[in-house]
Amino acid sequence: MTNTTQPQTTLAGLKLKSELVDANHVLAHQGVLDAFGHVSVRQPEHADHFLISRSMAPELVNVDDIIVMDLACNVTDGSQARPYLESFIHAEIYRARPDVQAVVHSHARSVIPFGAVNVPLRPVCHMAGFLSKGAPVFDIRHRFGCTDMLVRNASQGKALAATLGRASVALMRGHGFVSTGDSIAQAVFRAIYTEANAAIQASACMLSKQVAYLDVEEGLAADETNSQQIDRAWSLWKRHAAERLR
Ligand SMILES: [Zn+2]
Repeated sequence: MTNTTQPQTTLAGLKLKSELVDANHVLAHQGVLDAFGHVSVRQPEHADHFLISRSMAPELVNVDDIIVMDLACNVTDGSQARPYLESFIHAEIYRARPDVQAVVHSHARSVIPFGAVNVPLRPVCHMAGFLSKGAPVFDIRHRFGCTDMLVRNASQGKALAATLGRASVALMRGHGFVSTGDSIAQAVFRAIYTEANAAIQASACMLSKQVAYLDVEEGLAADETNSQQIDRAWSLWKRHAAERLR
């Protein structure tokens, strides 16, 4: 145990923990996480460590529940708390994607159909322009046969990260999805709008077989614009989540 992996000892570390708690509450309030799912952030001064809650429902997470893990999914801050079974999702995405600073894993119901049918999740509204980079589907059965569907070890985490590739989002057949970002707020923003886009796309597909999706250039341009506006949504979502928890 060393101070290097105890972010709570610095003001910046406390701020990051607090932001991660906010992310848990926002995602719960927005219906992206329920009793399950999780969100993490890479430790800025130690890129091979990340902060995440101990295993519990996101809406109930407090600063004291945040633990530090390394990329082998060892708890490194001396805590005896039980980590999430699927911490390897986060560790292996951080290992494969140095640009990623935060990861959300969700079981949102609106997204799951797109991992189960041969209809790709594509951007139908500008707020989900990041989906122009693709939303590949990870099918754990392809490499690991019959499992309980959870990403329980490094091999499974690496396979998920390989499916994600350079995309912002990957779907998980029969399970959920992951979203990534260069900050907690961006990963949360993308998780929320992945869920929204899935619901909108399903509605559009019921109305017609001919759906006008954003083309790649439109999606990338929208993503660039939206990335400058995230604080606006983040402030509102935090307020709403705080009011609910009051
Ligand atoms: Zn899961």
